[in-house]
Amino acid sequence: MDPCAEEGCERPAAVRLFIPWTDDRDVCTAHARVQVQADGVVAEPLEGAEENWR
Ligand SMILES: [Zn+2]
Repeated sequence: MDPCAEEGCERPAAVRLFIPWTDDRDVCTAHARVQVQADGVVAEPLEGAEENWR
């Protein structure tokens, strides 16, 4: 399991974010909830990461 792409975050990545203006990134659910609010960002659960959804 890869770690969250956010600097300083040690939670496991559970969501892939498709971001129109930069590369895709894998982040934890907490960071995904924040970043998915931005216009055009799409979040998709990572394979096998469902148990990390809380
Ligand atoms: Zn995170």
